[in-house]
Amino acid sequence: MAEVIKPSKEPVKIYWMSRHAPLQSQVTELKRLFGDDVVIMQDPQPFSYADDIISRFRLSGADELVIVAPLSVIAQIVQRGIKPLWAEMEQVTNPEEAETEAAGRLYRFVRFRRIVGIQLQFEEVEPVRKLDMAKVVRSSKEIAGIEMKVGDEWDAGYIPAGAAHRRCRVTVRKDAPYRWSVYAISFLGNKKLASWDILTFQCETCAKAFASCVVSKDKNAECPIHKQDGFSDSDTYTARVAVLCCLFGLSQADFVSLPPDAIWMLLSAAHRISDSRLTWQHVMKAIKVAEQLRSKYSLSWEVTMIKFYYKVEQVLLQSQINRRLPVT
Ligand SMILES: [Zn+2]
Repeated sequence: MAEVIKPSKEPVKIYWMSRHAPLQSQVTELKRLFGDDVVIMQDPQPFSYADDIISRFRLSGADELVIVAPLSVIAQIVQRGIKPLWAEMEQVTNPEEAETEAAGRLYRFVRFRRIVGIQLQFEEVEPVRKLDMAKVVRSSKEIAGIEMKVGDEWDAGYIPAGAAHRRCRVTVRKDAPYRWSVYAISFLGNKKLASWDILTFQCETCAKAFASCVVSKDKNAECPIHKQDGFSDSDTYTARVAVLCCLFGLSQADFVSLPPDAIWMLLSAAHRISDSRLTWQHVMKAIKVAEQLRSKYSLSWEVTMIKFYYKVEQVLLQSQINRRLPVT
């Protein structure tokens, strides 16, 4: 790191942009680097984009910027000619060595480094044949040597994957010798919220392939006999409407009695999940916000859905902005 030479006797001012105050070891290191009289100005306010950070830093009159931010934001700051300091942390397992904790992991401060650029590395993308992408689903008989009995179930997975508290399971159930139903059932913790029957099939592996596509994405799985002829993209879209309603705790009867605008907002969100513009994680965030407002202000479903849709739009807009950020 280049030595910093201040012409006057003025203390070096550090703009510390993080919700967390500097650790004792970080303060000690800043004193070693910039002098014992170093002034640390903490700004714990959240920031949204690079220009916001830069204007706050410039207004502060500080000499150095320390920041904890996403890489795309740091890249923009560097592009505008500021080289911020970055606190390098090391993950440790021994709690006695740890100085801080984030997301259940323990860390120790190592050193400060100056960020002078962020480089993206690329490799060529090879074309993949569409059929190779589809996972061929196998029957229980083929996998375990046992036929599914009437009443047996097979779980395709949870939506969103990895969500612990509020989630929806998509399951295939054998209802009769040649009848398999795909249904969705949602839970809030251990409490059942709602369930929807989605579609029935005469072929076990068609039902499983369909359920897998609903959980992951269209074209993700296919029946070894009927390929994807047993269902269409509009079926998986309908299934996603069902999952969305289940996550809100709405039954099929609740759904059809919603005001038309509320229905339209749910359908539109499901559509955006189907075309991969929206992820279930994002949807879940929007549901949480809408539900909190609903219980706090006893909102009607119509207003709840407006809040939900507003949040969804916000997320989409944010991801569009992120995509457009030039990163070099
Ligand atoms: Zn089939």
